Amino acid sequence: MLNRSKIFWESFYFKAIISKKLPILIRALLNIPLFSSDYDACLIKELKVFIDYFAFLYMKEITYNEAQEKESLRQDYLNQFFKKYPEKSVLRIVYNKNEGNFKKHLNALKIKGKITEKDYNKLIKSFKKHEGTDMNLFAFCPRGEVGKGISPKIFVNPVCFKLDFMDFVSILVDHEYIHAKHVKEGIKLKEGLEISYLNQNFFTPEVLLLLDESVAYINTIEKAIERDNLSPQIKELIKAFRKIQEELQSINKFNSVIEEASVKFQIKNNLRALQKYSEAEKR
Ligand SMILES: [Zn+2]
Repeated sequence: MLNRSKIFWESFYFKAIISKKLPILIRALLNIPLFSSDYDACLIKELKVFIDYFAFLYMKEITYNEAQEKESLRQDYLNQFFKKYPEKSVLRIVYNKNEGNFKKHLNALKIKGKITEKDYNKLIKSFKKHEGTDMNLFAFCPRGEVGKGISPKIFVNPVCFKLDFMDFVSILVDHEYIHAKHVKEGIKLKEGLEISYLNQNFFTPEVLLLLDESVAYINTIEKAIERDNLSPQIKELIKAFRKIQEELQSINKFNSVIEEASVKFQIKNNLRALQKYSEAEKR
């Protein structure tokens, strides 16, 4: 028993040293307060990186089915999922247990003064409105931080685990990762049509939201066609996408020239995606 344990720890430290994770832990132990209101800068987070790595080396893989059945496995599953489907625009994927972690995140932003009380209430309200629908993931950033290079966390609601695995990949990787990319890099429609903190005041918030969604939906649809996954869930997404398109088409008064150009450009892109989808459906 003692021998086995010795071998285990030796190999653990060896792997930790060669992976350069040990310096992270040492730095964490020396420099960083154990608890901090800024979670991303506290020791718990550094320890978590280390423990995640440990888990990655020694824990058995959790299957999607296991995560569906056992709620306590879902955060570990999401960590594992993120290693399989990495994305530099995403900080990490958080299981939104009891739908409370997202609220905590918003609360922290409110305390830091990054969102107002009014924004907070509005977000909580829209968050509740989306309960039970396909919009159950959130890659959120405060207005004014779009395109500043900040990678957001993605919050995954419990209801997402009711989906088939392919649909789960669709909404998380093909859809929500795009929102995260928009948060980090801005919305790049094409050269000369890029939306970020620098020019977002030229857009009404509702139009910004429609453009953001529209780009994410197009990617979801294209990837679903590529993966040959035209499931009922994707059909539901198409319905929502058509609604976005209708809303964009109904705008007749624009806030700025760039808003008008962006909307017109995106309407054409949406039409093309819808066309591709109906062709794939006929096949
Ligand atoms: Zn979306």
